[in-house]
Amino acid sequence: MTPHSGEVTLDYLWMLRPKAQLSSVLEITPQWLEARGIKGLLLDLDNTLVPYKFKGEPPEELIAWVKSLEAAGIRVFLVSNARRKRLKAWSAKLGVEGIGLAGKPWFGIRKGLKQLGLPPSQVAMVGDQVFTDVLGGNLAGAYTILVTPISQNELDYTRLVRRLERLILKL
Ligand SMILES: [Mg+2]
Repeated sequence: MTPHSGEVTLDYLWMLRPKAQLSSVLEITPQWLEARGIKGLLLDLDNTLVPYKFKGEPPEELIAWVKSLEAAGIRVFLVSNARRKRLKAWSAKLGVEGIGLAGKPWFGIRKGLKQLGLPPSQVAMVGDQVFTDVLGGNLAGAYTILVTPISQNELDYTRLVRRLERLILKL
């Protein structure tokens, strides 16, 4: 079938589409990953694991989740656009290595893949934003998981991006 002349093609939208959408990272279990051939996770920090700007202690469920993944042999690494200082603090609290100012969607994910030492086909990028986490993960050839953002306490810019994301996901 040939497209009608002048028809707008939406073929590029695959880049912005997550392979899976979940309400929380806690839904990602070793069994869920095994069923999809995933052996490593690249994790966004803000609004994926903890609320944006949150500086307190991580909830016990989150620590237990990280430990359950590691016990099952799943490799995890943080890839965040947050400042390096914030990333470092959360890396210590969660016991997970990572990089800040990662430059998602363009640079950080490839660095993360290198750290995991796994091919992109065995890695999932997990995050709450389509234009950084999902786009970056898809461009790198990884599986992509979009989670519901934890906090509504966000910058105006992010609010604008959310509106665009809702539009994209409806297409
Ligand atoms: Mg985020």
